[in-house]
Amino acid sequence: MNPGKQHAIITRAISHYGHERQLVKAAEEAAELSAAILRWHMTPEQETLKGLITEMADMYVMTRQLHMILYDVEEELRGEVMDMVDYKLSRLERRMDNDDA
Ligand SMILES: [Mg+2]
Repeated sequence: MNPGKQHAIITRAISHYGHERQLVKAAEEAAELSAAILRWHMTPEQETLKGLITEMADMYVMTRQLHMILYDVEEELRGEVMDMVDYKLSRLERRMDNDDA
């Protein structure tokens, strides 16, 4: 599916279900991803891997929706998420550099 179609479906989901419902759904999906990671870690096999991939996809879709909900609430927040991603990645890089020193 092309990015434009993905964006259209995500936008439609937010307007169809509303912010409140999608925020709760995002929390549910985060919990499901957490459980799937642990299941695959404890029992690394095809079935648990398939479950992990499924939940990663769910969380990806919900993260995209969260990003869009923030943008709806306050336009400047979209940039703040990406600024925070940069900050987190830079901090991770520094930690690894320190580990290697
Ligand atoms: Mg799920």
